[in-house]
This record gives sequence, structure tokens and C-alpha cells, in this order.
Amino acid sequence: MSDIIKILPTEVLNKIAAGEVVQRPASVVKELMENSIDAKSTKIKLIVRDSGKTLIQVVDNGEGMSKNDMKMSFMKHATSKITKIEDVFSITSMGFRGEALASISSISNIEKISKKKNADKTNIISLEGDKVTLEKTVFSEQGTSIKVRNLFYNVPARRNFLKSDFVELRHIIDSFNRIALSYPDIEFNLIHNDEELFYLKKSNLRKRISSIFGRKIDENLIPLNEKTSLVKITGFTLKPQFSKKSKNNQFLFVNNRYIKSQFLNHSINNAYEGLLREGFYPGYFIFLEIDPNKIDVNVHPNKTEIKFEDEQNLYSIINSSIKHSLGVYQITPVLDFDKESSMDIPYDSHKNRLKEPSIEVDSSFNPFLEEKNNENWEELQSKIENDIFDKKNIDINQEIDFPKIFQVFNKYIITTTGSSVIILNQSLAHQRILYEQFLKLSVDDGVKSQKLVFPIEIELTKKQEIILSEIKDVVDSMGFKFSVKNKIVNINAVPPIISDKPIEEIFEDLLNKNDSYNIKESFSLSDLIAKKLSKLLSVKTGKTLKLKEQQAIINQLFSCKEPKLSPLNKQIFVTLDKKDLDKNFFNG
Ligand code: ADP
Ligand code: MG
Repeated sequence: MSDIIKILPTEVLNKIAAGEVVQRPASVVKELMENSIDAKSTKIKLIVRDSGKTLIQVVDNGEGMSKNDMKMSFMKHATSKITKIEDVFSITSMGFRGEALASISSISNIEKISKKKNADKTNIISLEGDKVTLEKTVFSEQGTSIKVRNLFYNVPARRNFLKSDFVELRHIIDSFNRIALSYPDIEFNLIHNDEELFYLKKSNLRKRISSIFGRKIDENLIPLNEKTSLVKITGFTLKPQFSKKSKNNQFLFVNNRYIKSQFLNHSINNAYEGLLREGFYPGYFIFLEIDPNKIDVNVHPNKTEIKFEDEQNLYSIINSSIKHSLGVYQITPVLDFDKESSMDIPYDSHKNRLKEPSIEVDSSFNPFLEEKNNENWEELQSKIENDIFDKKNIDINQEIDFPKIFQVFNKYIITTTGSSVIILNQSLAHQRILYEQFLKLSVDDGVKSQKLVFPIEIELTKKQEIILSEIKDVVDSMGFKFSVKNKIVNINAVPPIISDKPIEEIFEDLLNKNDSYNIKESFSLSDLIAKKLSKLLSVKTGKTLKLKEQQAIINQLFSCKEPKLSPLNKQIFVTLDKKDLDKNFFNG
């Protein structure tokens, strides 16, 4: 049988940063399982005792090793996966440093059983430290089994440093899950103290996610699919409703390797902006495929950090791809938690699309505009339509089951989702939408005000002058730009949300408070002003709304942080469950 393991030349060694591979039992799990993957196994079994402190065993049905390779594999820098430094920069295997088995064997008792394909014998080698304590030949199945016993037996400090069994088991499960997620076509098994914790059959990613995290997660998965010349993105993000207070559901893989990247993580979180409650984190299972030459996985021995050549572009591609998927999802009803998964909406991702599709469609329609300027309104309408349909690349005649929407009493918008009817108050809903938009403006650094072609002049009363001096910083931060001279305000730019509205009236209304602004009734002055502006600008009861306007209200409301309550804490909508309706109809 040909031997394939070689010792790396010193120059290569020097270029590979040294470091510690084994911090805890979970690190051993990771290394052994990765070796089984590299050996092209289709079934991998992990057996653990006492959270790995007494035993970690990985059994696979992979390529196996020759007797000589088995011995070599325990030596430092012994690897079959790379031969020269260039290989480090185009790595396709999980391992390549040839360090793992050597490090593990120096701090545990290790036993290795392996049979190569077509070999007639199975070899067993046991090591204690670096001394061979057993060597024999038996008959068994093709593949490899590596048992790691008494981890850190000769490093008491490390052993004492380990956390409780519960914590160490958690880490082991994390390592196991990360690998199981990246290889759904491999069968995995995890047995702890004779109890089977996971049995994961060969399947696809979607099913693998549910077999690990439970069936409930399935209906919250939003598929990702994006291909550019730099990166291919696949996997799933989770609906905003499924966000958690912890980051436990965040999985990012590059070329099937689980990685941690604050930078890319930020790009993902940022795509959810405005969709999550304070303190909540989105969940995702994102797989990036990048040319191995454009990344460096050699930053740390545990290989969970990666350097990217083209970080900025990667950031924006990921960000827009997620926004895109969330956007597609936005147009489907959000409220129905019971509904069967509706997220398999296929959409063709554009080839080489780099354009950023915005879902924070500020297609804030304008109720005033219709009376004032029909042409503009037509334009705005088509903009909304484009935003909702075209940009999201959806063929409206296909697949998507739009909720039926209609207005009653010129006051309520009624819509349905799979299992309930939602009745919402148009004015309160619009107030909530505007309120969050203004609040966002007040904290966004890069507020873009819209310059007015014809600046507006307003003469102030003494009282208005005082009020203006009180609120000028806040309205400035929201995008109103003006100067005051001799009791005359000259407004030359306004927030884009109101650029096409009766600015003069709005501004005067802001200044016409009976007494000065009383922060006590609100969180802050900007909160108070956002409330006032949203009330002023919102569509009123009595106003007939076009279907597109009703749709825009529904879509935007349900991407608000708090869609249930108006800025002044009034209930915005009620839902009637089909179940409750059914109760009224005896024998239905
Ligand atoms: P690396 O994975 O970085 O090459 P390791 O110390 O983890 O280094 O493993 C050393 C070598 O042992 C590998 O290159 C591989 O040839 C061999 N090996 C380890 N585990 C297995 C396995 N489960 N099946 C087949 N070969 C293995
Ligand atoms: Mg390895």
C-alpha cells in the first residue's frame, strides 16, 4: 500500500503560524471529525464519555490509512494534504497543518484503528504520549476509528481549567453541529454516555437544520441564493420574528468551513436593520464560496478566522443579498406564524448583480399629494410598485399568494393571512411607520436632507421663536435645515420623507404648541418631535386609500420594530383567528 504522508519542509513550517490546537475536548472533536471529512467519509460517528474528559472517539468509513501513515500521522507537521507553501493558499481540505494528531497524542492516550480501501488488514496502534504501547492487526470494516482517552492527563493545569461537564458538552455539541451543518450529505451520530443525542441522516441543508434545531425553525427559513464573480452565497437567513437574544443561531461558513468574522457578521446584522427588536440578533446559516486563492485560512491554528482579499465588496454583496431575500419575504404576510413554510419562493438572482436592493423602501406614500399633484403621485405609485415587485425580482403573476386587502369605512384596512383576519387602523398604522422613520433619521449619521428649490420663509411670533430655539437641534438632526434672522426662518432643506408635503404647514404646526415641549411625557425631545410629526403627516381617518397605498401601509407596518402600538401606545390592529370565527358557526 502506498504511503502518502510527508514531513513538511522547514520553510513551509515557518510560514505556517504556530499555535495551540487543543484548548478543550470540543477542539479534539473538531479536529477528528474534520479528518474524517477529509478522508471522504459518508458516515461519521462521534462517541463521547464524560463530556470528552474520559473518551472522545470518532469512527468513520473513509479512505483509511496504511500502517506507516498511521505512525507518521502522530508526528508533528505530518500531513498528506499539502506539500508546498503555495498549497496553503489554495486549500480545499479541512486540515493541512499536520498538527492535530501530533498535538492530541502528546496530551492524551490515543488509539487508532484503520483500514484502507482494498487492504486486507486492519491495523491498530496505541500511543501513550509518544510511546507505542500496542500494535496489532485485526479484520474489520474500511475506515478509521480514533479514540482519545484521558485528555490532558499529563497537563493537570489544563484539565483543572476545564469547565463543568455541562459546559464542555455544550462546546462539543457546537463543534459537532457546525460540521454537521456544512456536510448535510454525510450521516452523523453523536453518542454521549451511551445516550444517542443526535442521529442525522444524509439529507439536504434545509432538513439538516430542522433535524438539529427542531421542526419549528423550518417555517422561518428564508433561502439565500446569490452568485457574483467574487462569491457564491447560499443557505438561509431566519425571519426577523425568529431572532433571539443570543447569537446562538448565527452560522457563517466559508468554503464549508465554519468561521467567525465580526466584519461579515456586521454586514449581516446590518441587513436586518429596522426589523429587529432592541437587543435581539438575527439567525442565519450562510455559506460563502470563494476562490481559495482569495482567502487566507491560516490566521489561527483552529482556522475559524479567515482573511479575505476583497473584504469591502464581500461586505456589500452579503448585505444586499440578505436585504434582497428579506425584501422578497417582506411582501408576503408576516403575521401568520402557523402557516406552512411559504418561503421556498424561487427567484432568479441576477447574474453578477452588485446593485444594492433596498428594502427600507421609503416608499412612504403621500396622502397629501394626490390632491396637490397628480403627476407626482403617479410617479410615486410606480416607484412603490417597482420597489415592491421589480427590484425584488418577483414575477407578480407567479407563486405568491397575495393577501386580499381592502378598506372599510375609510378608516380600517382589512387583510388576511392563512389563518386569521387582520383589521388595522390606517391612521395609527401610518403614524407608527412615520414615527420610526423620523426616529431613525434623528440617529442616523448620514442624514440626507433634500434641498428645496424654493426655500420657504416663515415669520415667527415671539412664542414660536422660543419654541424653535428649544427644538432646533433635534429638527436639524432629522434633516430640517434652516436659518433664522430677524424673526424670519428660512427653510432650505427638509427630510426627504416630507419633501413633497406642505412643509410650511408642518413647520408651523411644529412650532404651534400651547406650551413649550415637555419632555416628561416622552423619552426625549426627538421622540416627542417624531411623535408630533408622525401625527401631523399620517393619513387620516376618512381618507380613501388606493390598493397600493393600503399595501404599502401593511408592508411597512410589519417591518416596524413595534407594529402593534401607535407612537402614543394605541392598539393598531386586531386579529380574528379563523378558529374563533369558526366557533360562531355551530357545526360550521
Ligand atoms: P492534517 O489534518 O492537518 O493533515 P492531522 O494531524 O489532523 O493533520 O492528520 C495527519 C494526517 O493523518 C492527515 O493528513 C491524514 O493523512 C491522516 N488522517 C488523520 N485522520 C484520518 C482519518 N480519519 N482517515 C484517514 N486519514 C486520516
Ligand atoms: Mg486534521
